[in-house]
Amino acid sequence: MLLTITYTGQNTTDLGYLLHKNPYRPQVFELNHGRAFVFYPEVSDARTTAALLLDIDPIDLARGKVGSSGGGLFDYVNDRPYVSSSFLSTAISRVYGTAITGRADRHQALSDSALNLTAAITMLPCRGDTQMLRRVFEPLGYEVAYETFLADEMFPEWGASSYVNLTIRAKVRLRDLLKHLNVLIPVFDRQKHYWVGADEVDKLLRLGEGWLADHPERDYITGRYLNRSRSLVNQAFDRLSTVDQSGGEVLSAEPDFAADAPAAAELPATTATPDSAAERKERKPSLNTLRLESVAAALKESGAKRVIDLGCGEGNLLRLLLQNRQFTQITGVDVSHLALKRAHSRLRLDRASDSVRERIQLIQGSLTYRDSRFGSYDAAAVVEVIEHLDPSRLAAFERVLFEFAKPLTIVLTTPNKEYNSVYELGLDSSQPEEELRHSDHRFEWTRVEFRQWAEATAAKHGYEVQFQGIGDTDPTYGTPTQMGVFSLCE
Ligand code: SAH
Repeated sequence: MLLTITYTGQNTTDLGYLLHKNPYRPQVFELNHGRAFVFYPEVSDARTTAALLLDIDPIDLARGKVGSSGGGLFDYVNDRPYVSSSFLSTAISRVYGTAITGRADRHQALSDSALNLTAAITMLPCRGDTQMLRRVFEPLGYEVAYETFLADEMFPEWGASSYVNLTIRAKVRLRDLLKHLNVLIPVFDRQKHYWVGADEVDKLLRLGEGWLADHPERDYITGRYLNRSRSLVNQAFDRLSTVDQSGGEVLSAEPDFAADAPAAAELPATTATPDSAAERKERKPSLNTLRLESVAAALKESGAKRVIDLGCGEGNLLRLLLQNRQFTQITGVDVSHLALKRAHSRLRLDRASDSVRERIQLIQGSLTYRDSRFGSYDAAAVVEVIEHLDPSRLAAFERVLFEFAKPLTIVLTTPNKEYNSVYELGLDSSQPEEELRHSDHRFEWTRVEFRQWAEATAAKHGYEVQFQGIGDTDPTYGTPTQMGVFSLCE
């Protein structure tokens, strides 16, 4: 990943003084996750370019040193070494730390002046949301240009790649350009490599001083920068409003940027401060809890006694159902042996009383193959499973459940795709995105798409269906989860 900064005008080699990097001496910086190189591909009186090249070590990532996420193949095969991600932002703090403070000794006047600067960022992940590039950078006075690519030239039908090469140009102080980049690169990168803790709010306000409070996309920027952590975003909003009124909260830019101190963002996730008990208490019930409670309530209302949870995962719904004596027979089915093992241990089935053991069983099976064990239940729950099925297997699933198992009631939930915009716009930061929009989803449906599928399937198999939204309602985008309750017609 590469960031170049070009200064045009006169005596442009002075860029070296402002960046505190000698144009004639390439430098290497060791970072936690790789190395950063600074060099000048062009140096002349009229035009000087400094390049910051980041060489991420994929082995460090894979070893879980930094940035390792859920394990598995992602740790080895991912875009991290190649894209301008939050790593680049961290490198900017480290390598150009003094420049961000604006201190330039004998060249202070130049540092305090707006200069003709152009920054070019290669491979910025922006997930097709190119409009946002303009909405984020233009209000800061930049001319914005970007180059898009096909995901794969051999397969144009795969559409556009999620990455762009971005160029922004303005008459701007160097320190401001660096601050803008430092905040805004991670805004476009959804897969941040660091734990976003409380000190990130300080950092955001420090870097955002003088421009963030009045930015028309302030909420979006803040939400994305803080990885949608609700409590942190609220803190930031409170403090940004204070800045608005007092005309400037005075925060020193110095401490975070001392030349060789590791930036907070570079510390491994394990050193992060977890949320305080008070913060946890303040939190609303998670969407997951709301969803399970809504499903349990619908099952209860149906009068069902024998219930089968198809795609039960680790058994969260099963646990809830066990607490209600109405449910005399509870069966969990999952295709994943590991999920069932976890369900078994989370439900403590090895230590359970006989009466519990008589009520519950876990079986391995697939929802897309006809299975006589799925028959003879009053109700079936299918919670956040359908979107994991391959679309080509959807018809098989419909027949397995609606035609052959044919319970009296089916309670089915799936994400509402429209609500993703609410997270993206930073309007709701209460749920980490992953919790809802899992990487294994094969598809997601809008409200209309879900309704169409559900109504057609119900009609075909003699069911009636009613819909309910689960979670906070957005006036435009609806609720994060949608639920259909199917009842077999008499
Ligand atoms: N219902 C659970 C788990 C949802 S995650 C909950 O709400 O917490 C989706 C689950 O569906 C996973 O456990 C996955 O193993 C399971 N699954 C995916 N495809 C399946 C299939 N074809 N048959 C059975 N289970 C499947």
